[in-house]
Amino acid sequence: MDLSGKIAIVTGGSRGIGRAISLALAEAGAKVIVNYNQSAEAAHEVAELTGGQAVQADVSTTEGCQALIDAAEALGGLDVVVNNAGITRDGLMPRMRDEDWTAVLETNLGGTFRMCRGASMLMMRKRKGSIINITSVSGVRGNAGQTNYSASKAAVAGMTRSLAKELARRNIRVNCLAPGFVETDMVTAMDPRVIDAAKKAIPMRRLARPEEIAAVVCFLASDLSSYVTGQEWVVDGGMSA
Ligand code: NAP
Repeated sequence: MDLSGKIAIVTGGSRGIGRAISLALAEAGAKVIVNYNQSAEAAHEVAELTGGQAVQADVSTTEGCQALIDAAEALGGLDVVVNNAGITRDGLMPRMRDEDWTAVLETNLGGTFRMCRGASMLMMRKRKGSIINITSVSGVRGNAGQTNYSASKAAVAGMTRSLAKELARRNIRVNCLAPGFVETDMVTAMDPRVIDAAKKAIPMRRLARPEEIAAVVCFLASDLSSYVTGQEWVVDGGMSA
């Protein structure tokens, strides 16, 4: 996998899956802009390990996304963007608060929309690029207690298919990667009984390591996937097969 000379943005690159993606892209030769919102120390550590730069920006805001696009432009353009930043605010629908709905939609869907918009402008100049949106099996299959999260991820998948059709002639590919359960803070915050039940439902009988998600992202970022666009890649140990 060769990404030498490529400039990449990873939103939410400070922790979890985004951290592993940042490290893997850098290992393949990319210069990585490691975005974070709150975890400054973690992000700077990733930037040091990757030789990239940490950029604070809240992707739920227009200004935050523009700051990331500007950082890439200052480096010479943009080849790869991984829209990974995401949050959950779980709860059953009858009791879901408006703010839990809005926060999840604005971060997961709104952030991805704004980053795709900015990235496509920069990538059109280069007539090349790869956009990878991190969705979730929860958006593919649904999950009780995650109506806001599932809606945000399913919407990103729909947006990805349409954007792939808009940008294909410009040689810009747009794909999603839908992880199942991955060993990160997002999952360790869940009820252990839910995780035990999930493991039983996964044919491989274990959660994914963040590096196993990052490896597929690298493939989608690289020319090895040069004829792949508009797809949602499910990486879930066979759970939804
Ligand atoms: P995580 O460990 O909770 O990390 C979330 C990352 O997103 C952090 O780097 C965080 O940055 C960043 N972030 C959150 N809100 C942000 C904002 N407004 N602006 C910029 N960055 C923001 O989550 P994860 O498990 O690695 O999940 C990464 C992605 O994979 C998410 O999109 C998630 O929905 C998806 N996913 C995860 C799983 C799983 O099992 N873990 C499964 C399916 C899909 P700060 O800490 O700096 O705020």
